[in-house]
Amino acid sequence: MQRQRITVLGATGSIGQSTLDVVARHPERYDVFALTAHSRVDELAQLCQRFQPKHAVVATAADAEKLQQQLTAAATKAATAVHYGPEALVAVSEGADVDTVMAAIVGAAGLLPTLAAVKAGKRVLLANKEALVMSGALFMQAVQQSGATLLPIDSEHNAIFQCLPGGFRCGQNGDAKAVERLLLTASGGPFRQWSLEAMKAATPEQAVKHPKWSMGRKISVDSATLMNKGLELIEACWLFGMSPDRVQVVVHPESIIHSLVQYVDGSTLAQLGNPDMRTPIALGLAWPERIPAGVAALDLFATGQLNFESPDESRFPALRLARDAMQAGGCAPAVLNAANEVAVEAFLDGKLAFTDIPRLVEQTLTELPMMAADELSTILEADRLARQAAQRQLTKR
Ligand code: NAD
Ligand code: MG
Repeated sequence: MQRQRITVLGATGSIGQSTLDVVARHPERYDVFALTAHSRVDELAQLCQRFQPKHAVVATAADAEKLQQQLTAAATKAATAVHYGPEALVAVSEGADVDTVMAAIVGAAGLLPTLAAVKAGKRVLLANKEALVMSGALFMQAVQQSGATLLPIDSEHNAIFQCLPGGFRCGQNGDAKAVERLLLTASGGPFRQWSLEAMKAATPEQAVKHPKWSMGRKISVDSATLMNKGLELIEACWLFGMSPDRVQVVVHPESIIHSLVQYVDGSTLAQLGNPDMRTPIALGLAWPERIPAGVAALDLFATGQLNFESPDESRFPALRLARDAMQAGGCAPAVLNAANEVAVEAFLDGKLAFTDIPRLVEQTLTELPMMAADELSTILEADRLARQAAQRQLTKR
Protein backbone atom coordinates (compact mmCIF):
# COMPACT_ATOMS: atom_id res chain seq x y z
CA MET A 1 0.00 0.00 0.00
CA GLN A 2 1.40 3.36 -1.05
CA ARG A 3 1.23 6.19 1.47
CA GLN A 4 -0.95 9.12 0.44
CA ARG A 5 0.31 12.68 0.87
CA ILE A 6 -2.63 14.90 1.69
CA THR A 7 -3.42 18.59 1.50
CA VAL A 8 -6.37 19.68 3.63
CA LEU A 9 -7.82 22.96 2.33
CA GLY A 10 -9.88 24.47 5.16
CA ALA A 11 -8.21 22.38 7.87
CA THR A 12 -9.67 24.39 10.76
CA GLY A 13 -13.27 23.94 9.61
CA SER A 14 -15.78 21.28 10.49
CA ILE A 15 -14.90 19.03 7.51
CA GLY A 16 -11.18 19.78 7.89
CA GLN A 17 -11.21 18.65 11.51
CA SER A 18 -13.21 15.51 10.74
CA THR A 19 -10.72 14.71 7.97
CA LEU A 20 -7.75 15.05 10.31
CA ASP A 21 -9.57 12.88 12.85
CA VAL A 22 -9.79 10.05 10.29
CA VAL A 23 -6.22 10.65 9.07
CA ALA A 24 -4.91 10.42 12.65
CA ARG A 25 -6.50 6.97 13.01
CA HIS A 26 -4.38 5.64 10.12
CA PRO A 27 -0.81 6.96 10.47
CA GLU A 28 0.48 4.05 8.37
CA ARG A 29 -1.54 5.27 5.36
CA TYR A 30 -1.42 9.06 5.33
CA ASP A 31 1.10 11.90 5.53
CA VAL A 32 -0.17 15.44 5.89
CA PHE A 33 1.51 17.54 3.20
CA ALA A 34 -0.23 20.90 3.73
CA LEU A 35 -2.86 22.48 5.98
CA THR A 36 -4.65 25.74 5.22
CA ALA A 37 -6.87 28.11 7.21
CA HIS A 38 -8.40 31.51 6.62
CA SER A 39 -8.15 33.26 9.96
CA ARG A 40 -7.98 30.83 12.89
CA VAL A 41 -4.19 31.01 13.24
CA ASP A 42 -3.98 29.63 16.78
CA GLU A 43 -5.92 26.53 15.80
CA LEU A 44 -3.80 26.07 12.68
CA ALA A 45 -0.64 26.33 14.78
CA GLN A 46 -1.90 23.53 17.01
CA LEU A 47 -2.75 21.37 14.00
CA CYS A 48 0.73 21.99 12.57
CA GLN A 49 2.32 20.82 15.80
CA ARG A 50 0.21 17.69 15.81
CA PHE A 51 0.42 16.74 12.11
CA GLN A 52 3.80 18.23 11.11
CA PRO A 53 2.81 19.28 7.57
CA LYS A 54 5.48 20.43 5.11
CA HIS A 55 3.43 23.57 4.33
CA ALA A 56 0.83 25.76 6.02
CA VAL A 57 -1.17 28.51 4.29
CA VAL A 58 -3.11 31.43 5.81
CA ALA A 59 -4.82 34.45 4.23
CA THR A 60 -2.56 37.41 4.99
CA ALA A 61 1.11 38.30 5.52
CA ALA A 62 0.30 39.38 9.09
CA ASP A 63 -1.29 36.01 9.88
CA ALA A 64 1.63 34.20 8.27
CA GLU A 65 4.02 36.06 10.56
CA LYS A 66 1.89 35.23 13.58
CA LEU A 67 1.81 31.56 12.62
CA GLN A 68 5.56 31.51 12.01
CA GLN A 69 6.19 32.96 15.47
CA GLN A 70 3.98 30.39 17.13
CA LEU A 71 5.64 27.50 15.28
CA THR A 72 9.12 28.80 16.10
CA ALA A 73 8.21 29.18 19.77
CA ALA A 74 6.82 25.64 19.83
CA ALA A 75 9.98 24.35 18.04
CA THR A 76 8.17 21.67 16.01
CA LYS A 77 10.34 18.75 14.90
CA ALA A 78 9.92 19.03 11.15
CA ALA A 79 9.92 22.59 9.86
CA THR A 80 6.64 23.71 8.36
CA ALA A 81 7.03 26.35 5.65
CA VAL A 82 4.46 29.11 6.12
CA HIS A 83 2.78 30.84 3.14
CA TYR A 84 -0.15 33.14 2.54
CA GLY A 85 -2.65 34.15 -0.15
CA PRO A 86 -4.60 32.52 -2.97
CA GLU A 87 -1.54 31.53 -5.06
CA ALA A 88 -0.19 29.54 -2.13
CA LEU A 89 -3.53 27.71 -1.85
CA VAL A 90 -3.21 26.73 -5.51
CA ALA A 91 0.44 25.69 -5.09
CA VAL A 92 -0.26 23.25 -2.24
CA SER A 93 -3.17 21.79 -4.27
CA GLU A 94 -1.39 21.13 -7.56
CA GLY A 95 2.21 20.47 -6.48
CA ALA A 96 3.95 17.27 -7.56
CA ASP A 97 4.37 16.12 -3.93
CA VAL A 98 0.61 15.92 -3.30
CA ASP A 99 -1.53 12.85 -4.00
CA THR A 100 -4.85 13.80 -2.41
CA VAL A 101 -6.58 17.12 -1.82
CA MET A 102 -9.47 17.52 0.59
CA ALA A 103 -11.38 20.52 -0.79
CA ALA A 104 -13.06 21.82 2.38
CA ILE A 105 -12.88 25.59 2.05
CA VAL A 106 -16.36 27.08 2.30
CA GLY A 107 -17.81 29.06 -0.59
CA ALA A 108 -16.49 30.46 -3.86
CA ALA A 109 -13.06 31.00 -2.26
CA GLY A 110 -12.49 27.26 -2.74
CA LEU A 111 -12.94 27.29 -6.51
CA LEU A 112 -9.41 28.06 -7.73
CA PRO A 113 -7.44 25.65 -5.51
CA THR A 114 -10.02 22.88 -6.03
CA LEU A 115 -9.91 23.33 -9.80
CA ALA A 116 -6.10 23.39 -9.67
CA ALA A 117 -6.11 20.01 -7.88
CA VAL A 118 -8.48 18.62 -10.51
CA LYS A 119 -6.37 19.92 -13.41
CA ALA A 120 -3.26 18.40 -11.84
CA GLY A 121 -4.99 15.00 -11.83
CA LYS A 122 -5.10 14.52 -8.06
CA ARG A 123 -7.44 12.41 -6.00
CA VAL A 124 -9.89 15.17 -5.08
CA LEU A 125 -12.21 14.76 -2.11
CA LEU A 126 -14.93 17.29 -2.88
CA ALA A 127 -16.68 18.83 0.13
CA ASN A 128 -16.68 22.37 -1.34
CA LYS A 129 -19.93 22.06 -3.31
CA GLU A 130 -19.94 25.77 -4.21
CA ALA A 131 -16.94 25.21 -6.53
CA LEU A 132 -18.82 22.62 -8.56
CA VAL A 133 -22.06 24.62 -8.55
CA MET A 134 -20.23 27.64 -9.99
CA SER A 135 -18.22 25.90 -12.67
CA GLY A 136 -19.94 22.51 -13.25
CA ALA A 137 -19.26 22.02 -16.97
CA LEU A 138 -15.65 23.26 -16.84
CA PHE A 139 -14.97 21.33 -13.66
CA MET A 140 -16.24 17.99 -14.99
CA GLN A 141 -14.43 18.55 -18.29
CA ALA A 142 -11.19 19.12 -16.34
CA VAL A 143 -11.78 15.87 -14.41
CA GLN A 144 -12.06 13.93 -17.66
CA GLN A 145 -9.10 15.61 -19.31
CA SER A 146 -6.71 15.21 -16.38
CA GLY A 147 -7.87 11.80 -15.20
CA ALA A 148 -8.35 13.15 -11.66
CA THR A 149 -10.19 10.85 -9.27
CA LEU A 150 -13.14 12.86 -8.02
CA LEU A 151 -14.80 11.51 -4.88
CA PRO A 152 -17.89 13.25 -3.53
CA ILE A 153 -17.75 13.94 0.21
CA ASP A 154 -21.13 15.62 0.61
CA SER A 155 -22.96 12.82 2.44
CA GLU A 156 -25.81 12.61 -0.10
CA HIS A 157 -23.52 12.38 -3.12
CA ASN A 158 -21.22 10.00 -1.33
CA ALA A 159 -24.28 7.82 -0.65
CA ILE A 160 -25.30 7.91 -4.33
CA PHE A 161 -21.73 7.10 -5.34
CA GLN A 162 -21.91 4.05 -3.07
CA CYS A 163 -25.28 2.97 -4.57
CA LEU A 164 -24.01 3.08 -8.16
CA PRO A 165 -22.28 0.05 -9.69
CA GLY A 166 -18.58 -0.56 -9.00
CA GLY A 167 -16.18 1.15 -11.34
CA PHE A 168 -18.66 3.94 -11.89
CA ARG A 169 -16.94 7.23 -12.61
CA CYS A 170 -18.57 10.48 -11.63
CA GLY A 171 -19.92 12.48 -14.55
CA GLN A 172 -19.61 9.54 -16.93
CA ASN A 173 -22.62 7.59 -15.87
CA GLY A 174 -22.26 4.73 -18.30
CA ASP A 175 -25.37 3.26 -16.74
CA ALA A 176 -27.56 6.32 -17.28
CA LYS A 177 -30.28 4.24 -18.92
CA ALA A 178 -30.43 1.87 -15.95
CA VAL A 179 -30.97 4.69 -13.46
CA GLU A 180 -34.49 6.09 -13.25
CA ARG A 181 -33.72 8.87 -10.81
CA LEU A 182 -31.68 9.95 -7.82
CA LEU A 183 -33.38 10.64 -4.49
CA LEU A 184 -31.57 13.26 -2.42
CA THR A 185 -32.54 13.15 1.23
CA ALA A 186 -32.79 16.32 3.32
CA SER A 187 -33.23 16.60 7.08
CA GLY A 188 -35.54 19.58 6.53
CA GLY A 189 -33.37 21.72 8.82
CA PRO A 190 -34.30 23.42 12.09
CA PHE A 191 -37.38 25.18 10.60
CA ARG A 192 -38.98 22.15 8.97
CA GLN A 193 -42.16 22.61 10.99
CA TRP A 194 -42.10 26.38 11.40
CA SER A 195 -44.72 28.64 9.78
CA LEU A 196 -43.54 31.24 7.29
CA GLU A 197 -44.55 33.90 9.83
CA ALA A 198 -42.30 32.39 12.50
CA MET A 199 -39.42 31.99 10.04
CA LYS A 200 -39.51 35.73 9.30
CA ALA A 201 -38.27 36.38 12.83
CA ALA A 202 -35.76 33.48 12.96
CA THR A 203 -32.40 34.47 14.48
CA PRO A 204 -28.93 33.34 13.36
CA GLU A 205 -28.59 31.28 16.57
CA GLN A 206 -31.79 29.41 15.75
CA ALA A 207 -30.78 28.92 12.12
CA VAL A 208 -27.33 27.46 12.82
CA LYS A 209 -28.69 24.96 15.35
CA HIS A 210 -29.03 22.00 13.04
CA PRO A 211 -31.09 19.11 14.41
CA LYS A 212 -28.83 16.32 13.09
CA TRP A 213 -25.46 17.56 11.82
CA SER A 214 -22.75 19.72 13.37
CA MET A 215 -21.37 21.94 10.59
CA GLY A 216 -19.91 25.36 9.75
CA ARG A 217 -22.20 28.40 10.02
CA LYS A 218 -22.71 29.04 6.29
CA ILE A 219 -23.82 25.51 5.41
CA SER A 220 -25.98 25.44 8.55
CA VAL A 221 -27.92 28.50 7.36
CA ASP A 222 -28.12 26.92 3.88
CA SER A 223 -29.63 23.84 5.51
CA ALA A 224 -32.23 25.99 7.24
CA THR A 225 -33.31 27.70 3.97
CA LEU A 226 -32.93 24.41 2.03
CA MET A 227 -30.56 26.28 -0.30
CA ASN A 228 -28.08 23.59 0.73
CA LYS A 229 -30.34 21.01 -0.89
CA GLY A 230 -30.70 23.27 -3.92
CA LEU A 231 -26.91 23.50 -4.27
CA GLU A 232 -26.74 19.72 -3.80
CA LEU A 233 -29.30 19.18 -6.55
CA ILE A 234 -27.03 21.10 -8.92
CA GLU A 235 -24.02 19.20 -7.57
CA ALA A 236 -25.77 15.86 -8.23
CA CYS A 237 -26.63 16.85 -11.82
CA TRP A 238 -22.96 17.53 -12.59
CA LEU A 239 -21.42 14.64 -10.70
CA PHE A 240 -23.75 11.98 -12.04
CA GLY A 241 -24.66 13.41 -15.44
CA MET A 242 -28.36 13.80 -14.54
CA SER A 243 -30.94 16.35 -15.61
CA PRO A 244 -32.60 18.25 -12.72
CA ASP A 245 -35.99 16.59 -13.36
CA ARG A 246 -34.39 13.22 -12.52
CA VAL A 247 -33.22 14.34 -9.08
CA GLN A 248 -35.93 14.35 -6.43
CA VAL A 249 -35.60 15.85 -2.95
CA VAL A 250 -37.07 13.80 -0.11
CA VAL A 251 -37.32 15.23 3.39
CA HIS A 252 -36.19 12.57 5.86
CA PRO A 253 -35.92 14.11 9.34
CA GLU A 254 -33.91 11.27 10.95
CA SER A 255 -30.94 11.74 8.54
CA ILE A 256 -30.18 8.01 8.57
CA ILE A 257 -30.67 7.32 4.85
CA HIS A 258 -28.15 9.61 3.17
CA SER A 259 -29.60 9.25 -0.36
CA LEU A 260 -30.93 6.66 -2.79
CA VAL A 261 -30.73 5.52 -6.42
CA GLN A 262 -33.82 4.19 -8.19
CA TYR A 263 -33.28 1.81 -11.10
CA VAL A 264 -35.59 1.12 -14.04
CA ASP A 265 -36.30 -2.44 -12.81
CA GLY A 266 -37.98 -1.20 -9.63
CA SER A 267 -34.93 -1.55 -7.36
CA THR A 268 -34.08 1.27 -5.01
CA LEU A 269 -30.66 1.23 -3.35
CA ALA A 270 -29.93 3.35 -0.28
CA GLN A 271 -26.91 4.05 1.90
CA LEU A 272 -27.57 4.30 5.64
CA GLY A 273 -25.46 5.34 8.59
CA ASN A 274 -25.28 7.59 11.62
CA PRO A 275 -25.03 11.26 10.58
CA ASP A 276 -21.26 11.72 10.92
CA MET A 277 -19.14 13.16 8.09
CA ARG A 278 -16.22 10.91 9.00
CA THR A 279 -17.98 8.07 7.13
CA PRO A 280 -17.97 9.74 3.67
CA ILE A 281 -14.54 11.22 4.40
CA ALA A 282 -13.07 7.78 5.21
CA LEU A 283 -14.63 6.36 2.04
CA GLY A 284 -13.08 9.17 0.00
CA LEU A 285 -9.67 8.68 1.59
CA ALA A 286 -9.53 4.89 1.23
CA TRP A 287 -11.73 4.15 -1.82
CA PRO A 288 -11.91 1.48 -3.25
CA GLU A 289 -11.00 0.12 0.19
CA ARG A 290 -12.86 0.82 3.42
CA ILE A 291 -11.23 1.80 6.70
CA PRO A 292 -12.53 2.46 10.24
CA ALA A 293 -13.76 6.04 10.61
CA GLY A 294 -14.48 6.22 14.34
CA VAL A 295 -18.22 6.13 13.62
CA ALA A 296 -20.44 3.69 15.55
CA ALA A 297 -22.38 1.15 13.48
CA LEU A 298 -26.02 1.96 12.95
CA ASP A 299 -28.31 0.44 15.59
CA LEU A 300 -31.59 -0.16 13.75
CA PHE A 301 -33.46 -1.06 16.94
CA ALA A 302 -32.48 2.24 18.53
CA THR A 303 -33.22 4.08 15.26
CA GLY A 304 -36.81 2.86 15.14
CA GLN A 305 -38.90 4.69 12.58
CA LEU A 306 -37.76 6.39 9.40
CA ASN A 307 -40.05 9.10 8.03
CA PHE A 308 -40.35 10.80 4.64
CA GLU A 309 -42.11 13.99 3.48
CA SER A 310 -42.10 16.02 0.29
CA PRO A 311 -40.47 19.44 0.64
CA ASP A 312 -42.70 22.52 0.94
CA GLU A 313 -41.43 24.86 -1.76
CA SER A 314 -43.73 27.70 -0.71
CA ARG A 315 -41.92 27.96 2.64
CA PHE A 316 -38.55 26.96 1.15
CA PRO A 317 -38.34 28.66 -2.28
CA ALA A 318 -34.56 28.14 -2.47
CA LEU A 319 -35.14 24.67 -3.88
CA ARG A 320 -37.10 26.04 -6.82
CA LEU A 321 -34.53 28.79 -7.41
CA ALA A 322 -31.70 26.26 -7.59
CA ARG A 323 -33.58 23.91 -9.92
CA ASP A 324 -34.48 26.82 -12.21
CA ALA A 325 -30.87 28.07 -12.20
CA MET A 326 -29.62 24.62 -13.21
CA GLN A 327 -32.21 24.45 -15.96
CA ALA A 328 -31.32 27.96 -17.16
CA GLY A 329 -27.65 26.91 -17.33
CA GLY A 330 -24.70 29.20 -18.09
CA CYS A 331 -23.64 31.32 -15.14
CA ALA A 332 -27.05 31.18 -13.42
CA PRO A 333 -25.84 28.66 -10.79
CA ALA A 334 -22.76 30.85 -10.12
CA VAL A 335 -25.03 33.90 -9.69
CA LEU A 336 -27.35 31.94 -7.39
CA ASN A 337 -24.36 30.85 -5.30
CA ALA A 338 -22.77 34.31 -5.05
CA ALA A 339 -26.03 36.05 -4.14
CA ASN A 340 -26.69 33.37 -1.55
CA GLU A 341 -23.24 33.85 0.02
CA VAL A 342 -23.90 37.60 0.33
CA ALA A 343 -27.40 37.02 1.72
CA VAL A 344 -26.28 34.43 4.29
CA GLU A 345 -23.51 36.70 5.52
CA ALA A 346 -25.96 39.60 5.85
CA PHE A 347 -28.37 37.37 7.75
CA LEU A 348 -25.62 36.18 10.12
CA ASP A 349 -24.68 39.85 10.69
CA GLY A 350 -28.29 40.68 11.60
CA LYS A 351 -28.80 42.81 8.47
CA LEU A 352 -31.31 40.63 6.63
CA ALA A 353 -34.40 38.68 7.68
CA PHE A 354 -34.19 34.92 7.27
CA THR A 355 -37.02 34.79 4.75
CA ASP A 356 -35.36 37.55 2.70
CA ILE A 357 -32.39 35.27 1.89
CA PRO A 358 -34.11 33.52 -1.06
CA ARG A 359 -35.76 36.80 -2.04
CA LEU A 360 -32.38 38.51 -2.42
CA VAL A 361 -31.11 35.56 -4.45
CA GLU A 362 -34.13 35.69 -6.75
CA GLN A 363 -33.81 39.47 -7.24
CA THR A 364 -30.14 39.06 -8.17
CA LEU A 365 -30.92 36.27 -10.64
CA THR A 366 -33.61 38.44 -12.25
CA GLU A 367 -31.39 41.50 -12.43
CA LEU A 368 -28.31 39.98 -14.06
CA PRO A 369 -28.12 39.14 -17.77
CA MET A 370 -27.59 35.53 -18.79
CA MET A 371 -23.90 34.70 -19.36
CA ALA A 372 -22.37 31.52 -20.82
CA ALA A 373 -20.13 29.56 -18.44
CA ASP A 374 -17.50 28.24 -20.83
CA GLU A 375 -14.57 30.27 -19.49
CA LEU A 376 -13.33 30.51 -15.93
CA SER A 377 -12.93 34.28 -16.31
CA THR A 378 -16.63 34.66 -17.20
CA ILE A 379 -17.66 32.59 -14.19
CA LEU A 380 -15.52 34.72 -11.87
CA GLU A 381 -16.97 37.86 -13.47
CA ALA A 382 -20.53 36.56 -12.95
CA ASP A 383 -19.62 35.86 -9.31
CA ARG A 384 -18.32 39.42 -8.91
CA LEU A 385 -21.31 41.06 -10.61
CA ALA A 386 -23.76 38.97 -8.58
CA ARG A 387 -22.08 39.99 -5.32
CA GLN A 388 -22.26 43.65 -6.36
CA ALA A 389 -25.91 43.38 -7.37
CA ALA A 390 -26.83 41.58 -4.15
CA GLN A 391 -25.02 44.23 -2.09
CA ARG A 392 -26.94 46.96 -3.94
CA GLN A 393 -30.22 45.20 -3.19
CA LEU A 394 -29.17 44.98 0.45
CA THR A 395 -28.42 48.68 0.82
CA LYS A 396 -31.74 49.55 -0.83
CA ARG A 397 -33.60 47.79 2.00
P1 NAD B 1 -16.39 25.76 8.11
O1 NAD B 1 -16.89 27.14 8.12
O2 NAD B 1 -16.45 24.97 9.37
O3 NAD B 1 -14.87 25.74 7.61
C1 NAD B 1 -14.48 26.44 6.48
C2 NAD B 1 -12.97 26.36 6.28
O4 NAD B 1 -12.64 27.17 5.14
C3 NAD B 1 -12.15 26.90 7.43
O5 NAD B 1 -10.98 26.15 7.59
C4 NAD B 1 -11.79 28.32 6.99
O6 NAD B 1 -10.57 28.76 7.55
C5 NAD B 1 -11.68 28.16 5.49
N1 NAD B 1 -12.00 29.39 4.77
C6 NAD B 1 -13.11 30.17 4.93
N2 NAD B 1 -13.07 31.22 4.09
C7 NAD B 1 -11.93 31.11 3.38
C8 NAD B 1 -11.31 31.91 2.37
N3 NAD B 1 -11.88 33.04 1.91
N4 NAD B 1 -10.12 31.50 1.87
C9 NAD B 1 -9.53 30.37 2.32
N5 NAD B 1 -10.06 29.58 3.28
C10 NAD B 1 -11.25 29.94 3.80
O7 NAD B 1 -17.17 24.99 6.93
P2 NAD B 1 -17.50 23.43 6.82
O8 NAD B 1 -18.79 23.14 7.47
O9 NAD B 1 -16.31 22.62 7.17
O10 NAD B 1 -17.78 23.32 5.24
C11 NAD B 1 -16.72 23.33 4.30
C12 NAD B 1 -17.28 22.96 2.92
O11 NAD B 1 -17.77 21.62 2.98
C13 NAD B 1 -18.48 23.83 2.49
O12 NAD B 1 -18.41 24.03 1.12
C14 NAD B 1 -19.69 22.97 2.85
O13 NAD B 1 -20.78 23.23 2.01
C15 NAD B 1 -19.13 21.57 2.61
N6 NAD B 1 -19.81 20.54 3.39
C16 NAD B 1 -19.77 20.57 4.75
C17 NAD B 1 -20.42 19.59 5.49
C18 NAD B 1 -20.34 19.58 7.01
O14 NAD B 1 -20.86 18.64 7.62
N7 NAD B 1 -19.73 20.54 7.65
C19 NAD B 1 -21.13 18.58 4.84
C20 NAD B 1 -21.16 18.57 3.45
C21 NAD B 1 -20.50 19.55 2.73
MG1 MG C 1 -24.99 17.32 2.22
